[in-house]
Amino acid sequence: MKAAVGLCPQCQKPAVDFSPLAGGAARCRGCGWEGKAEGLTSVPFEHDFASPEAMVAEFTKAVRKELLPFGTPLGVLLVRWGFVDPKRPDLFKRSIVVYLERATLALIRSVFETRDLIAREGLPEMRELGPQSQAKGDPNVH
Ligand SMILES: [Zn+2]
Repeated sequence: MKAAVGLCPQCQKPAVDFSPLAGGAARCRGCGWEGKAEGLTSVPFEHDFASPEAMVAEFTKAVRKELLPFGTPLGVLLVRWGFVDPKRPDLFKRSIVVYLERATLALIRSVFETRDLIAREGLPEMRELGPQSQAKGDPNVH
């Protein structure tokens, strides 16, 4: 089916009712956020799910599963950079879980925003993407 996914700018969930018309009102069924539909990240694309919500829920589950092994290296990084105190083992694990979950939601949001950006403006040049793309031997550098 072809459907637009609208992500709530407040809670990141796709449970947003909105008018497809520019300037229409939008409301999140998750957290109650209200605003303009034109301010939403709204990505039209085709998928085989029953609804945009079902598609985003499955995608979120898949991304969460793939990022789970990243919890340990993320924990090491957060300790090294002083974001998490390793001397509080009772809070340590919960902190890492919170950071990982929020990072996962931010990544998912970024994927939808990037899809939207590429659809509107095309792919940026590699040199506009920062130092990562400048790595020597990268065959994609133009
Ligand atoms: Zn919301």
